[in-house]
Amino acid sequence: MTDLLSATTPLTVLSAADIGSWIRLAAQAVTDHTEELTKLDAAIGDADHGTNMRRGLAAVVTALDEGEPDTPAAVLKKVAMTLVSQVGGASGPLYGTFFLRMSTAVGGVTELDAAALADAVEAGVDGIKARGRGETGEKTMLDAWCPALSALREHPSSLEEATAVAAQAAAVGREDTRGMTATKGRASYLGERSVGHLDPGAASTALILRALAQTVHDGHPGCDPGQAVR
Ligand code: ADP
Ligand code: MG
Repeated sequence: MTDLLSATTPLTVLSAADIGSWIRLAAQAVTDHTEELTKLDAAIGDADHGTNMRRGLAAVVTALDEGEPDTPAAVLKKVAMTLVSQVGGASGPLYGTFFLRMSTAVGGVTELDAAALADAVEAGVDGIKARGRGETGEKTMLDAWCPALSALREHPSSLEEATAVAAQAAAVGREDTRGMTATKGRASYLGERSVGHLDPGAASTALILRALAQTVHDGHPGCDPGQAVR
């Protein structure tokens, strides 16, 4: 992802504001892909995943616009609470639990490095597993989150590399759901007939992680290294 002409330097840590930027970019990505997510859910669910996620993340952006908290934990908690209250269906409580557990895991720190991010994502993934009584291989969002978490763990000293490989791993995980039989959530009603379709939750997770990698890669506007060094 290195771009020699880039006028910005990648982030090495995530501040509260950076987490806000990530979530705003994720909201934009989900809005841009609403139809695609809904089509995936139409094939093996009830055709609402795109609209559920778009509505939820739009409400999150509104909540952040009204007042963006100044610690990572508080931003993540606001994201969680808004998702839980705005998104119906399985994905609201699951993503809500993810961000709430992340919030608890980061505690009082003001910035997350790659290792702290991996710890927080691990807490979030454990929350999804507990809340949905799920594991990998069941054709759910966990099939994108779990490989992404393993990828994050492989690069504890570079946030840019960690988030880039995590996004890539989530995209591969999303593709891998195609061959799986759903055993959790609405798609499990279809049993073997769910094979051949991508899981919508794994697809939204891949978008959220791509937004994270992009946020880290893009860095802060105006951080041209040539100008920053005086
Ligand atoms: P609903 O299924 O209630 O209509 P959504 O369509 O918004 O909710 O979300 C569906 C997604 O939720 C699925 O594609 C899957 O990734 C995820 N999901 C459903 N149940 C579980 C579970 N028990 N564990 C993990 N993820 C789940
Ligand atoms: Mg649905």
